[in-house]
Amino acid sequence: MRLIGDLLRLSASDLMRFKGCRHATALDLRLIEVGDLKPDEDGPEAELLQKQGDDHELAFLDRLKADGHSVIEIPKDKISLEESVRLTLEAMRTGPDIIYQGALLDGAWGGYSDFLERVERPSDLGAWSYEVVDTKLKRKPDPKHVLQLCLYSDLIEKVQGVAPEAAHLQLGDGSRFTVRLSEVSAYARHARRMLEVFLMERPETRSEPVSACTLCRWSSHCAEQWEADDSLALVAGISRSQRQRLEAVGITTMAALAVSKDRVPKMAAETQRKLVSQAQLQSARRAGGPPAFELRNTEPGKGFGLLPAPDDGDVFYDIEGDPYFPGGLEYLHGVWYREKNEWAFRAFWAHTREDEGRSVADLLTFLVEHMRRHPNAHVYHYANYEIAALRRLTAQHRTCEAAVDQLQRERRFVDLFKVVSGGMIASEKGYSIKDLEAFYMKKRAGDVATAGSSVVFYEEWRHTGEQRLLDEIHDYNRTDCISTQLLRDWLVRDVRPTGMAWPVLGEVPEGGSLSNIEAEDEEIRVLRAKLQPVRERLGDQVADLLLDLSQFHKREDKPAYWAIFDRLAQESEELLDDLECIQGLEAVSEPVQVTKQSFERTYRFPQQETKLRAGKSPCLKPAAMPEDVNLRSIDHDTNTLVLRRSTAKGPLPDRLDLLPPRPLRNNVLKDAIAAVTEEIIANTGRVPAIEDILTRSRPRFRGRFAVPWCDFRGRPVRRNKPCNRCNGRFYAGNPGTAGERQNVC
Ligand code: SF4
Repeated sequence: MRLIGDLLRLSASDLMRFKGCRHATALDLRLIEVGDLKPDEDGPEAELLQKQGDDHELAFLDRLKADGHSVIEIPKDKISLEESVRLTLEAMRTGPDIIYQGALLDGAWGGYSDFLERVERPSDLGAWSYEVVDTKLKRKPDPKHVLQLCLYSDLIEKVQGVAPEAAHLQLGDGSRFTVRLSEVSAYARHARRMLEVFLMERPETRSEPVSACTLCRWSSHCAEQWEADDSLALVAGISRSQRQRLEAVGITTMAALAVSKDRVPKMAAETQRKLVSQAQLQSARRAGGPPAFELRNTEPGKGFGLLPAPDDGDVFYDIEGDPYFPGGLEYLHGVWYREKNEWAFRAFWAHTREDEGRSVADLLTFLVEHMRRHPNAHVYHYANYEIAALRRLTAQHRTCEAAVDQLQRERRFVDLFKVVSGGMIASEKGYSIKDLEAFYMKKRAGDVATAGSSVVFYEEWRHTGEQRLLDEIHDYNRTDCISTQLLRDWLVRDVRPTGMAWPVLGEVPEGGSLSNIEAEDEEIRVLRAKLQPVRERLGDQVADLLLDLSQFHKREDKPAYWAIFDRLAQESEELLDDLECIQGLEAVSEPVQVTKQSFERTYRFPQQETKLRAGKSPCLKPAAMPEDVNLRSIDHDTNTLVLRRSTAKGPLPDRLDLLPPRPLRNNVLKDAIAAVTEEIIANTGRVPAIEDILTRSRPRFRGRFAVPWCDFRGRPVRRNKPCNRCNGRFYAGNPGTAGERQNVC
C-alpha cells in the first residue's frame, strides 16, 4: 500500500493481508497516513522466505530460457511503476513467449506479475494474448494466491481487450496449478471491492489472533497491545468463538475471566470451567508465581486416558523439516531410546528427495524391529506433525506404508500434546513443548532455539556446507527428543492421577504385534512378480500403474480412517467448529425399541454448522475404535436428532459426539480392478479397451462409427447389445454431449 499524492495504490499483497486480518490493513494505513507506529523488521525466517521465493522465480526463468522460449524482462529497479507498465505494454505488443516481471496498473490497483505467458488466443494485441503465471514455493496452492492471479488477470484484460481463460501457479515441487478464471473471478472482484469499501469507511478494528499473526510485521505491536489490555487473546488454548461468547456477556479480560462465576450462554460447563482455571493459573504466573497446574476430569480416551504405562523400550521421536526446500523436505528424524540400559540418540538424515524416502524407510525398519523386541513399548512425540509427515512420506515414496498403518492400528504412537491438553491445565502462556519445559527441565542452551531457526540453519548449511550448522541442528533435535522423554516422565511421576488404571490402546493382530506387515508387503511383492509379463508386453509404466491401482482404494480409505482416529483423540470442544462432526450431543429421551433388533434415541446438540445429514452413518465418540451409528433424522430448528443402533452393539451413551462416517465400502471396485489385472496378466484379450487406456492408444471403435449403446441416463437404446470383446465391462463417452454413451471396444 502506497500513498501517491492523495491516492492510495493497492497491490495483491495488500489484498492478501486484508483477507488474513483487517486489523493489519488498518495498521498499514496508519503507518502511511500518520506514521506513529513501527512495524517489525524482517526476521531471519522472513528474509529466508523472501530469498527462497526469489530463487525459485529465477530458477523458473532460467528453465524457460533454457527451453528456448523468447523472454523479455521488464526492468523494475530505479524506474517508476508507470514506466514499467509502458515497457510491459510495448513487450506485449511484440508478442514474446514470456514477459518477466510485467508491470500492470489500472486505477488504484497495480503490481508486478512474475510471468506473463503467451497463448495463441487472439486479442487486441494480435493473434495472441497472455496469461498470468506466478511462482510459489509451496507444494499446494493457497486460496489467497487465487486473489493475486485474478487481480493480474483482470489487469491484463484491460491491456489486451480479452479476458484470459486461465492463470497458473508454478509450485515449489515443480508442478503447475491452473485456475479457471471464470470460476473464481467474481469472488476475487468481490474481495477487492470489500477492501476498497473498508478503506473508504475505515471501520474500527482490533487485534484478534489469527493464523496470519505468525508472519505478520505487526505481531510485536499486537502482542504489546494484548498485554496492555490483559486481553482474552492471552488465555492459552482459547478459541475465537469462545472469546466471542465471553465478550458477549461482558468478560473482556483475563482477570475478569479468572473471577467470573455466572454461566456463559452457549458454552459447555466443562469448557467454561477449563477457561476460568486457565485464566486463574496464568494470571498467578504472570504476577510472578511459580509454574503450576490443575488436573482436568478424567475420561476414557482423553488426556491421561491416552497415556500408556511406561516401558523400557519406549522411543521419543522428533522430526525436522525444511519447507523452503523445493517441494519441502523432511530432512531429519531423531529418536531417543534406551539400549542396553544406556540412553542413545539416532539420527536419520536426508538431504535429497531420494534420501528422504530411504531415511523414512530406515526409520520405520528401526521402529518395527525395536517394537517387536519391546511389545509394550510406544513411540512418543509432541503434536501431530510427526504422524502427518510419516503418513505423507510413506505414501509419497511408496515405502513402509503397511508398517505405518499397523503401528497406528496398534496405537503405538502417543501424542503427548493430546495427553497434556486433555489431562491438565498449565499456568504457561501456551502449550508448546518449550512452554511446558518450565515444569521439568532447565532453560535450553545452543543457538538453534526454535523450529524456525533450525530451518534457517539448515538452509544456510545447504548453501555453505558448514558441518557446524548440521551439528547444531543435530543437538537441537536431540534436545527435543530428550525433552519429550522428560515430559513423559514428569507426566507419569508428578501429574497423572494416582490410582488411575493404565489404558490399553489399539488392536494387536492375531499373529502378534506387528505380525501382519510382511504379509501386506508380500502381497505387493507377489503381484509385482506376477506383473512381469505385463512389464515385458506393455512396458514398465503399465505394470507400475496396475500395481498402484491394486493399492488405490486402500490408500484412498486411509485419510478417512485417519480423520476418525484423529478426532477420537481430540478434545470434544474442539469439534464444535468442525463441519464434519456434531459436538456435544445430550440425550433427551430413553432408548426406544423400534424393531426387533434396533432402538432409537433422541439427542439435543448445541447450535453449530455441520455437513452430517440424515441417512449417514457417523462414527461415535467416545470410542476406542471407529464405531458407527445410523443418523435417522436431524432438525436444525430445534437442534435435535435421532440415532438408531442395533441392540447387539449395546446401548448409546447419554453424551457423545458424532464424527465423520467410515469410508464407503469399495470391495466391488477392488475386486473389479483385481479381475481386470488378472485378465491383463493372462493376456486373454478380453479387456482391450482398458489396455488401450493404459497404453494411451487410440480407442478402437467397432465398425467405422461408434455404436450407440445406452443413453446418458443408462437407459438402453435400440442397438444395446454389449460388445462381445469386453462383454460390456468398459464403455466411455461424454454424457450429455451427444446424448449417448458409446461402446468403445
Ligand atoms: S499480528 Fe495478528 S492480529 Fe495483529 S495485525 Fe498482524 S495478523 Fe492482525
